[in-house]
Amino acid sequence: MPRVSFEHIVKSFGAITILNDLNLSVDDGDFLVLLGPSGCGKTTLLNLLAGLLEVSDGRIMIGERDVTDLDPRDRGLAMVFQSYALYPTKTVYGNLKFGLAASKLDRAEIERRITVAAKLLQIEPLLNRKPGQLSGGQRQRVAIGRALVKQAGVVLFDEPLSNLDAKLRTEMRLEIKKLHDTLKPTVVYVTHDQIEAMTMATRIAVMDGGVIQQFGTPDEIYGRPANLFVAGFIGAPAMNLRKARLTVNGGSVQAGFDTGDAIDLGDYAFSKKPESGAEVVVGLRPEHFVVAEQPIFNPAASFELPLRQAERTGSDATAYLGFGEELLALRVDPDRAAGFRPGQPVRAEFPRGKANVFSAETGLRL
Ligand code: ATP
Repeated sequence: MPRVSFEHIVKSFGAITILNDLNLSVDDGDFLVLLGPSGCGKTTLLNLLAGLLEVSDGRIMIGERDVTDLDPRDRGLAMVFQSYALYPTKTVYGNLKFGLAASKLDRAEIERRITVAAKLLQIEPLLNRKPGQLSGGQRQRVAIGRALVKQAGVVLFDEPLSNLDAKLRTEMRLEIKKLHDTLKPTVVYVTHDQIEAMTMATRIAVMDGGVIQQFGTPDEIYGRPANLFVAGFIGAPAMNLRKARLTVNGGSVQAGFDTGDAIDLGDYAFSKKPESGAEVVVGLRPEHFVVAEQPIFNPAASFELPLRQAERTGSDATAYLGFGEELLALRVDPDRAAGFRPGQPVRAEFPRGKANVFSAETGLRL
Protein backbone atom coordinates (compact mmCIF):
# COMPACT_ATOMS: atom_id res chain seq x y z
CA MET A 1 0.00 0.00 0.00
CA PRO A 2 1.39 3.43 -0.85
CA ARG A 3 2.17 5.54 2.16
CA VAL A 4 1.76 8.87 0.42
CA SER A 5 -0.16 9.44 -2.80
CA PHE A 6 -0.81 12.51 -4.85
CA GLU A 7 -3.86 11.92 -7.03
CA HIS A 8 -4.65 14.18 -9.98
CA ILE A 9 -3.13 17.19 -8.24
CA VAL A 10 -3.73 20.60 -9.77
CA LYS A 11 -2.18 23.70 -8.24
CA SER A 12 -2.68 27.17 -9.66
CA PHE A 13 -1.57 30.53 -8.36
CA GLY A 14 -4.12 32.94 -9.85
CA ALA A 15 -4.24 32.32 -13.59
CA ILE A 16 -0.98 30.34 -13.62
CA THR A 17 -1.16 26.58 -13.26
CA ILE A 18 2.03 25.17 -11.76
CA LEU A 19 1.00 21.53 -11.40
CA ASN A 20 -1.55 20.02 -13.75
CA ASP A 21 -2.93 16.53 -13.04
CA LEU A 22 0.13 15.27 -11.22
CA ASN A 23 0.08 11.69 -9.93
CA LEU A 24 2.75 10.17 -7.71
CA SER A 25 2.83 7.65 -4.94
CA VAL A 26 5.50 6.47 -2.57
CA ASP A 27 5.65 3.24 -0.57
CA ASP A 28 6.06 2.88 3.15
CA GLY A 29 9.68 3.32 4.20
CA ASP A 30 10.76 4.77 0.86
CA PHE A 31 13.05 7.76 0.62
CA LEU A 32 11.52 9.79 -2.19
CA VAL A 33 13.53 12.68 -3.58
CA LEU A 34 11.74 15.35 -5.62
CA LEU A 35 14.54 16.54 -7.87
CA GLY A 36 14.52 19.30 -10.44
CA PRO A 37 15.76 22.72 -11.42
CA SER A 38 14.65 25.90 -9.69
CA GLY A 39 11.01 26.69 -10.36
CA CYS A 40 10.00 23.16 -11.42
CA GLY A 41 7.34 22.93 -8.70
CA LYS A 42 8.97 20.58 -6.21
CA THR A 43 8.58 22.86 -3.18
CA THR A 44 4.98 23.54 -4.17
CA LEU A 45 4.33 19.79 -4.19
CA LEU A 46 5.99 19.33 -0.79
CA ASN A 47 4.04 22.23 0.68
CA LEU A 48 0.79 20.75 -0.60
CA LEU A 49 1.64 17.52 1.23
CA ALA A 50 2.58 19.44 4.37
CA GLY A 51 -0.68 21.38 4.23
CA LEU A 52 1.12 24.72 3.94
CA LEU A 53 -0.62 25.24 0.57
CA GLU A 54 -4.07 24.15 -0.56
CA VAL A 55 -4.59 22.09 -3.70
CA SER A 56 -6.69 23.62 -6.48
CA ASP A 57 -7.90 20.13 -7.34
CA GLY A 58 -7.06 16.49 -6.63
CA ARG A 59 -6.50 14.45 -3.52
CA ILE A 60 -3.61 13.71 -1.17
CA MET A 61 -3.64 10.45 0.76
CA ILE A 62 -1.41 9.46 3.68
CA GLY A 63 -1.96 5.77 4.20
CA GLU A 64 -5.70 5.34 4.01
CA ARG A 65 -6.45 8.86 5.23
CA ASP A 66 -7.51 11.57 2.85
CA VAL A 67 -5.57 14.54 4.25
CA THR A 68 -6.36 16.99 1.44
CA ASP A 69 -8.35 19.32 3.67
CA LEU A 70 -6.68 18.60 6.99
CA ASP A 71 -4.79 21.14 9.03
CA PRO A 72 -0.98 20.65 8.83
CA ARG A 73 -0.91 19.60 12.51
CA ASP A 74 -3.37 16.80 11.91
CA ARG A 75 -1.53 15.16 9.02
CA GLY A 76 0.90 13.13 11.15
CA LEU A 77 3.96 14.57 9.44
CA ALA A 78 7.21 16.10 10.59
CA MET A 79 9.02 18.68 8.48
CA VAL A 80 12.60 19.93 8.31
CA PHE A 81 13.00 23.33 6.66
CA GLN A 82 15.92 24.79 4.74
CA SER A 83 15.98 27.75 7.13
CA TYR A 84 15.96 25.38 10.19
CA ALA A 85 13.05 27.42 11.67
CA LEU A 86 14.36 27.16 15.25
CA TYR A 87 13.09 29.40 18.05
CA PRO A 88 16.01 31.71 18.87
CA THR A 89 14.94 32.30 22.48
CA LYS A 90 14.58 28.63 23.34
CA THR A 91 17.46 26.27 24.12
CA VAL A 92 18.12 23.23 21.96
CA TYR A 93 16.24 21.19 24.57
CA GLY A 94 13.36 23.68 24.42
CA ASN A 95 13.29 23.54 20.64
CA LEU A 96 13.17 19.74 20.66
CA LYS A 97 10.45 19.77 23.30
CA PHE A 98 8.46 22.32 21.35
CA GLY A 99 8.15 19.78 18.53
CA LEU A 100 5.99 17.78 20.94
CA ALA A 101 4.04 20.72 22.36
CA ALA A 102 0.82 19.73 20.67
CA SER A 103 1.11 16.08 21.68
CA LYS A 104 -0.45 14.59 24.78
CA LEU A 105 2.68 12.68 25.80
CA ASP A 106 3.63 12.47 29.46
CA ARG A 107 6.82 14.10 30.70
CA ALA A 108 8.81 10.90 30.94
CA GLU A 109 8.07 9.99 27.32
CA ILE A 110 8.97 13.49 26.12
CA GLU A 111 12.23 13.24 28.06
CA ARG A 112 12.95 9.81 26.64
CA ARG A 113 12.36 10.90 23.03
CA ILE A 114 14.56 13.96 23.40
CA THR A 115 17.34 11.85 24.91
CA VAL A 116 17.14 9.30 22.09
CA ALA A 117 17.09 11.95 19.34
CA ALA A 118 19.91 13.96 20.93
CA LYS A 119 22.01 10.81 21.15
CA LEU A 120 21.31 9.75 17.56
CA LEU A 121 22.25 13.21 16.31
CA GLN A 122 25.15 13.66 18.74
CA ILE A 123 23.81 16.94 20.06
CA GLU A 124 23.64 15.94 23.75
CA PRO A 125 26.37 18.43 24.75
CA LEU A 126 24.40 21.24 23.08
CA LEU A 127 21.05 20.80 24.81
CA ASN A 128 21.41 23.93 26.96
CA ARG A 129 22.61 26.23 24.19
CA LYS A 130 20.49 28.59 22.15
CA PRO A 131 20.45 28.42 18.32
CA GLY A 132 22.58 31.59 18.10
CA GLN A 133 25.39 29.68 19.85
CA LEU A 134 25.40 26.88 17.27
CA SER A 135 27.08 26.40 13.89
CA GLY A 136 24.94 25.92 10.78
CA GLY A 137 25.52 22.16 10.85
CA GLN A 138 24.53 21.94 14.53
CA ARG A 139 21.37 23.96 13.88
CA GLN A 140 20.47 21.60 11.09
CA ARG A 141 20.89 18.65 13.45
CA VAL A 142 18.55 20.30 15.93
CA ALA A 143 16.01 20.90 13.17
CA ILE A 144 16.23 17.22 12.25
CA GLY A 145 15.99 16.30 15.95
CA ARG A 146 12.79 18.26 16.27
CA ALA A 147 11.33 16.19 13.44
CA LEU A 148 12.63 12.92 14.95
CA VAL A 149 11.08 13.39 18.39
CA LYS A 150 7.66 13.42 16.77
CA GLN A 151 8.29 9.85 15.57
CA ALA A 152 6.13 10.69 12.58
CA GLY A 153 5.79 7.99 9.96
CA VAL A 154 6.35 10.55 7.21
CA VAL A 155 9.14 13.12 7.35
CA LEU A 156 9.44 15.97 4.85
CA PHE A 157 12.69 17.76 4.07
CA ASP A 158 12.84 21.00 2.10
CA GLU A 159 16.38 21.47 0.75
CA PRO A 160 17.77 20.92 4.26
CA LEU A 161 21.44 21.02 3.29
CA SER A 162 21.59 23.97 0.96
CA ASN A 163 22.87 26.40 3.61
CA LEU A 164 25.77 24.17 4.61
CA ASP A 165 29.29 24.10 3.17
CA ALA A 166 30.37 21.22 0.94
CA LYS A 167 32.08 19.19 3.68
CA LEU A 168 29.17 19.46 6.10
CA ARG A 169 26.72 18.66 3.33
CA THR A 170 28.52 15.39 2.72
CA GLU A 171 28.51 14.56 6.44
CA MET A 172 24.84 15.38 6.89
CA ARG A 173 23.95 13.41 3.75
CA LEU A 174 25.50 10.32 5.28
CA GLU A 175 23.76 10.97 8.60
CA ILE A 176 20.33 11.48 7.11
CA LYS A 177 20.77 8.30 5.12
CA LYS A 178 21.88 6.42 8.25
CA LEU A 179 18.90 7.76 10.21
CA HIS A 180 16.59 6.63 7.45
CA ASP A 181 18.18 3.17 7.42
CA THR A 182 17.76 2.94 11.20
CA LEU A 183 14.31 4.42 11.72
CA LYS A 184 12.78 3.70 8.29
CA PRO A 185 10.27 6.55 8.11
CA THR A 186 8.80 7.43 4.73
CA VAL A 187 10.74 10.46 3.55
CA VAL A 188 9.84 13.07 0.96
CA TYR A 189 12.91 15.20 0.32
CA VAL A 190 13.16 18.20 -2.01
CA THR A 191 16.45 19.17 -3.59
CA HIS A 192 17.97 20.44 -6.82
CA ASP A 193 21.21 18.62 -5.97
CA GLN A 194 21.53 15.43 -7.97
CA ILE A 195 24.25 14.04 -5.69
CA GLU A 196 21.86 14.23 -2.73
CA ALA A 197 19.22 12.54 -4.82
CA MET A 198 21.47 9.79 -6.13
CA THR A 199 23.03 8.99 -2.75
CA MET A 200 20.01 9.06 -0.47
CA ALA A 201 16.91 8.23 -2.48
CA THR A 202 15.29 4.87 -2.89
CA ARG A 203 13.05 6.57 -5.48
CA ILE A 204 13.56 9.79 -7.41
CA ALA A 205 10.89 11.86 -9.13
CA VAL A 206 12.65 14.12 -11.63
CA MET A 207 10.52 17.20 -12.25
CA ASP A 208 10.61 19.92 -14.88
CA GLY A 209 7.98 22.50 -15.71
CA GLY A 210 5.59 21.08 -13.10
CA VAL A 211 5.66 17.64 -14.75
CA ILE A 212 7.23 14.45 -13.45
CA GLN A 213 9.67 13.57 -16.19
CA GLN A 214 10.66 10.23 -14.68
CA PHE A 215 9.98 8.30 -11.50
CA GLY A 216 12.32 5.46 -10.63
CA THR A 217 15.23 4.17 -8.59
CA PRO A 218 18.50 6.12 -8.82
CA ASP A 219 19.93 3.34 -11.02
CA GLU A 220 16.98 3.50 -13.42
CA ILE A 221 17.13 7.27 -13.64
CA TYR A 222 20.86 7.23 -14.25
CA GLY A 223 21.08 4.15 -16.44
CA ARG A 224 17.88 4.47 -18.48
CA PRO A 225 16.82 8.12 -18.59
CA ALA A 226 13.29 8.36 -19.96
CA ASN A 227 13.90 11.46 -22.07
CA LEU A 228 16.44 14.09 -23.07
CA PHE A 229 15.65 16.31 -20.09
CA VAL A 230 16.49 13.58 -17.56
CA ALA A 231 19.51 12.49 -19.63
CA GLY A 232 20.94 16.00 -19.58
CA PHE A 233 20.00 16.80 -15.99
CA ILE A 234 21.45 13.75 -14.22
CA GLY A 235 25.20 13.24 -14.32
CA ALA A 236 28.22 15.52 -14.04
CA PRO A 237 29.89 16.07 -16.41
CA ALA A 238 26.63 15.83 -18.32
CA MET A 239 25.89 13.03 -20.76
CA ASN A 240 27.13 13.80 -24.29
CA LEU A 241 23.99 14.17 -26.42
CA ARG A 242 24.67 14.19 -30.15
CA LYS A 243 22.34 14.05 -33.15
CA ALA A 244 22.68 11.07 -35.46
CA ARG A 245 20.79 9.16 -38.14
CA LEU A 246 20.02 5.46 -37.99
CA THR A 247 20.91 2.89 -40.61
CA VAL A 248 19.21 -0.45 -40.08
CA ASN A 249 20.47 -3.50 -41.91
CA GLY A 250 19.10 -6.80 -40.65
CA GLY A 251 20.11 -7.05 -36.99
CA SER A 252 22.69 -4.33 -37.35
CA VAL A 253 21.77 -0.79 -36.34
CA GLN A 254 24.25 2.03 -36.83
CA ALA A 255 23.87 5.63 -35.72
CA GLY A 256 25.94 7.89 -37.96
CA PHE A 257 27.04 11.35 -36.78
CA ASP A 258 27.65 14.40 -39.00
CA THR A 259 31.36 14.00 -38.31
CA GLY A 260 31.41 10.72 -40.24
CA ASP A 261 31.84 8.72 -37.03
CA ALA A 262 29.31 6.03 -36.17
CA ILE A 263 28.26 3.89 -33.26
CA ASP A 264 27.01 0.34 -33.58
CA LEU A 265 23.71 0.05 -31.72
CA GLY A 266 23.06 -3.59 -32.66
CA ASP A 267 22.75 -4.63 -29.01
CA TYR A 268 20.54 -1.72 -27.92
CA ALA A 269 17.17 -2.73 -26.48
CA PHE A 270 14.94 -0.52 -28.63
CA SER A 271 11.41 -0.28 -27.26
CA LYS A 272 10.13 -0.55 -30.83
CA LYS A 273 11.73 -1.57 -34.09
CA PRO A 274 14.13 1.15 -35.26
CA GLU A 275 13.83 2.47 -38.81
CA SER A 276 16.52 3.50 -41.26
CA GLY A 277 16.74 7.25 -41.66
CA ALA A 278 15.26 7.97 -38.21
CA GLU A 279 16.79 11.04 -36.60
CA VAL A 280 17.93 10.30 -33.09
CA VAL A 281 20.00 11.75 -30.30
CA VAL A 282 22.67 9.40 -28.97
CA GLY A 283 23.67 9.79 -25.32
CA LEU A 284 27.18 8.78 -24.30
CA ARG A 285 28.18 9.13 -20.65
CA PRO A 286 31.65 10.66 -20.16
CA GLU A 287 32.68 7.94 -17.70
CA HIS A 288 31.93 5.09 -20.11
CA PHE A 289 34.60 6.03 -22.65
CA VAL A 290 37.85 4.14 -22.58
CA VAL A 291 40.95 5.87 -23.86
CA ALA A 292 42.21 3.34 -26.34
CA GLU A 293 45.58 2.64 -24.83
CA GLN A 294 43.61 -0.12 -23.13
CA PRO A 295 41.51 -1.00 -26.20
CA ILE A 296 38.32 -2.87 -25.47
CA PHE A 297 37.32 -5.95 -27.41
CA ASN A 298 34.73 -5.18 -30.06
CA PRO A 299 33.70 -1.67 -28.97
CA ALA A 300 30.43 -0.13 -30.15
CA ALA A 301 32.35 2.91 -31.41
CA SER A 302 35.92 4.00 -31.79
CA PHE A 303 36.81 7.67 -32.20
CA GLU A 304 40.05 9.46 -32.96
CA LEU A 305 39.51 13.09 -32.07
CA PRO A 306 41.67 16.13 -31.29
CA LEU A 307 42.02 17.14 -27.66
CA ARG A 308 40.65 20.63 -27.07
CA GLN A 309 41.00 20.94 -23.32
CA ALA A 310 41.55 18.88 -20.18
CA GLU A 311 40.27 19.75 -16.73
CA ARG A 312 41.68 18.18 -13.59
CA THR A 313 40.07 18.38 -10.19
CA GLY A 314 42.62 16.29 -8.28
CA SER A 315 40.76 13.02 -8.01
CA ASP A 316 39.16 13.31 -11.41
CA ALA A 317 39.76 14.61 -14.90
CA THR A 318 37.65 15.39 -17.93
CA ALA A 319 39.02 15.61 -21.44
CA TYR A 320 37.09 17.58 -24.07
CA LEU A 321 37.63 16.28 -27.59
CA GLY A 322 36.63 18.16 -30.72
CA PHE A 323 33.67 16.42 -32.35
CA GLY A 324 32.81 18.47 -35.45
CA GLU A 325 31.80 21.88 -34.16
CA GLU A 326 31.00 20.43 -30.74
CA LEU A 327 32.88 18.77 -27.92
CA LEU A 328 32.73 15.29 -26.46
CA ALA A 329 33.44 15.09 -22.74
CA LEU A 330 35.29 11.99 -21.52
CA ARG A 331 36.20 11.14 -17.96
CA VAL A 332 39.87 10.15 -17.95
CA ASP A 333 42.53 9.10 -15.51
CA PRO A 334 43.96 12.32 -13.97
CA ASP A 335 47.54 11.10 -14.40
CA ARG A 336 46.96 10.58 -18.08
CA ALA A 337 45.23 13.96 -18.39
CA ALA A 338 48.36 15.60 -16.95
CA GLY A 339 50.23 14.57 -20.09
CA PHE A 340 47.56 15.73 -22.53
CA ARG A 341 48.41 18.63 -24.85
CA PRO A 342 45.77 20.59 -26.81
CA GLY A 343 45.58 19.44 -30.41
CA GLN A 344 46.92 15.93 -29.82
CA PRO A 345 44.76 13.13 -31.20
CA VAL A 346 43.08 10.91 -28.60
CA ARG A 347 41.64 7.53 -29.46
CA ALA A 348 38.57 6.77 -27.38
CA GLU A 349 36.31 3.75 -27.52
CA PHE A 350 32.75 3.40 -26.35
CA PRO A 351 31.65 0.06 -24.91
CA ARG A 352 28.68 -1.91 -26.14
CA GLY A 353 25.42 -1.74 -24.25
CA LYS A 354 26.13 1.65 -22.69
CA ALA A 355 24.64 4.07 -25.20
CA ASN A 356 21.26 5.76 -24.73
CA VAL A 357 19.12 6.58 -27.75
CA PHE A 358 16.35 9.17 -27.92
CA SER A 359 14.00 10.32 -30.64
CA ALA A 360 15.22 13.65 -32.04
CA GLU A 361 11.58 14.55 -32.62
CA THR A 362 9.97 13.75 -29.25
CA GLY A 363 13.03 13.58 -26.98
CA LEU A 364 11.76 10.28 -25.61
CA ARG A 365 13.94 7.24 -25.06
CA LEU A 366 13.71 4.81 -27.96
P1 ATP B 1 13.25 26.26 -6.00
O1 ATP B 1 14.24 25.16 -6.03
O2 ATP B 1 13.77 27.54 -6.58
O3 ATP B 1 12.59 26.46 -4.66
P2 ATP B 1 10.91 24.81 -6.88
O4 ATP B 1 11.10 23.74 -7.87
O5 ATP B 1 10.75 24.40 -5.49
O6 ATP B 1 12.08 25.88 -7.03
P3 ATP B 1 8.41 26.12 -6.57
O7 ATP B 1 8.85 26.96 -5.42
O8 ATP B 1 7.53 24.98 -6.30
O9 ATP B 1 9.66 25.63 -7.38
O10 ATP B 1 7.72 27.08 -7.64
C1 ATP B 1 7.15 26.57 -8.83
C2 ATP B 1 6.60 27.74 -9.63
O11 ATP B 1 5.51 28.30 -8.93
C3 ATP B 1 7.57 28.87 -9.87
O12 ATP B 1 7.40 29.34 -11.17
C4 ATP B 1 7.17 29.90 -8.85
O13 ATP B 1 7.47 31.19 -9.32
C5 ATP B 1 5.67 29.68 -8.74
N1 ATP B 1 5.15 30.02 -7.42
C6 ATP B 1 5.48 29.43 -6.25
N2 ATP B 1 4.78 29.97 -5.21
C7 ATP B 1 3.99 30.93 -5.75
C8 ATP B 1 3.02 31.85 -5.23
N3 ATP B 1 2.74 31.87 -3.92
N4 ATP B 1 2.41 32.68 -6.11
C9 ATP B 1 2.68 32.63 -7.42
N5 ATP B 1 3.58 31.80 -7.98
C10 ATP B 1 4.22 30.96 -7.18
